[in-house]
Amino acid sequence: MSIQNLRAAALKSALPVKLRTERLLQLRSVLQEKAEKIGAALEKDLGKCAFESWVSEIGFLRDEIGHFLADIPALVVPQKVATPMTLQPGKSAIHKEPFGVVLVMAPWNYPVQLALSPLIGAIAAGNRVVVKPSELAPNCAVIIEEIITQVFSSDEVLVVQGGVAETQALLKEKFDYIFFTGSTQVGKVVMRAAAEYLTPVTLELGGKSPCLIDKSAPLGQTAKRIAWGKWLNAGQTCVAPDYILVPSAQHDEFVREMQAAITQFYGSDPKLSPDYGRIVNERHFDRLVNLLKDTKPAIGGQHSKTEKFIAPTVITNVSWDHPLMQEEIFGPLLPVIAYDSIDEAIQLIKARPKPLAFYLFSTDSAVQERVLEQVPFGGGCVNDTIVHLANSRLPFGGVGESGMGAYHGALSFDTFSHKKSVFHQTTLVDVPLRYPPYKGKEGLLKFLVG
Ligand code: NAD
Repeated sequence: MSIQNLRAAALKSALPVKLRTERLLQLRSVLQEKAEKIGAALEKDLGKCAFESWVSEIGFLRDEIGHFLADIPALVVPQKVATPMTLQPGKSAIHKEPFGVVLVMAPWNYPVQLALSPLIGAIAAGNRVVVKPSELAPNCAVIIEEIITQVFSSDEVLVVQGGVAETQALLKEKFDYIFFTGSTQVGKVVMRAAAEYLTPVTLELGGKSPCLIDKSAPLGQTAKRIAWGKWLNAGQTCVAPDYILVPSAQHDEFVREMQAAITQFYGSDPKLSPDYGRIVNERHFDRLVNLLKDTKPAIGGQHSKTEKFIAPTVITNVSWDHPLMQEEIFGPLLPVIAYDSIDEAIQLIKARPKPLAFYLFSTDSAVQERVLEQVPFGGGCVNDTIVHLANSRLPFGGVGESGMGAYHGALSFDTFSHKKSVFHQTTLVDVPLRYPPYKGKEGLLKFLVG
């Protein structure tokens, strides 16, 4: 089956509503059935422990499906909207129409979740889908294909495997929608390719997500919540804290609390911890070790190429022009920068591209209000990290260089649907007022249309 055949099937009909629900139910049970195999693939590709695999990949997907199973019947019904007096007694409604054939491109860091979660939304909305898993998580790519071919027929969903060359060939095809998750750099490649056919896109990209600690924050709890979000998946999370801004007066105490959190979570030698992951490949390992050049980590810094291990690492006294502060870190290195006033910190963040995530730690409601109003970001938390993703009622997506568009839960249904406006005119009356000649009607027309 080729993409052309998928397109022909899409032109014939959207996926019937009953079939969408059936397929999602099947997908949920196959995910359960293959949970161990998926866990093993995640372990091989990323050293992910079973708990993380369940919470951030398999369990996450099962929850996502659960939302749709409950919501699809209501979501497919055209949404009635009010009609202005001048158009009455006609009626207005928004119909949700699938785009047709959707391309989903996934990265390697949450390889199963980020390939299948957009797929779930696209199927719920009635689309046919081409899924392109990341070649950098090869064991997961195999299992993703296995799952998809078990659940979907080849005129519903196709899997295309491959690296850069294959993906670039794929991007030459015409799609009705492209949903891309990956780096800002490749996001630009995708958007250029989409422009050829004026294909709409969602770009779920990355960037440097800051944590801003206000002087009112309880440092022990703050350090724990940051450490958890940072070293989950060894820092290879798009919304991981990328750098910390801490008041100068609390800097040293914060670093001590970070050390305590790391030891509590991963023991005195994190290499031996069953809960600490590995770097995806040697290229990324070398990139990260290179970022450590000319630094003296306050915590961690140990690494081993054969094991693709880099310890949870905190680096202090980092200047803004150090390479650590020039690119998204996407690994277990955490720069900590001291600041003197909250306004200075806000300006430092605002001087950089709008981040995908932002985390404010403060118990002062005036500070919370000021910072949230002034700092632009995709999504985030007050007094926590990452968990905003766990609420599927919150749209997940970036802004500016961290992306465009959003999804999760029922919101994905909107992402993958065209909102078709329909006005139903009555045939019972035909008001002559709008027809020419207009002479003599101007006063009344002006009164009606303002
Ligand atoms: P990537 O951009 O390198 O790859 C993503 C996809 O694009 C892969 O399927 C890959 O095969 C393909 N690709 C890579 N280079 C390409 C090229 N030159 N032309 C065409 N296709 C190409 O991203 P990655 O390394 O897999 O993932 C890491 C990045 O993704 C980080 O920046 C991270 O922040 C971001 N990310 C974002 C989210 C989010 O939801 N916003 C989630 C996870 C990761």
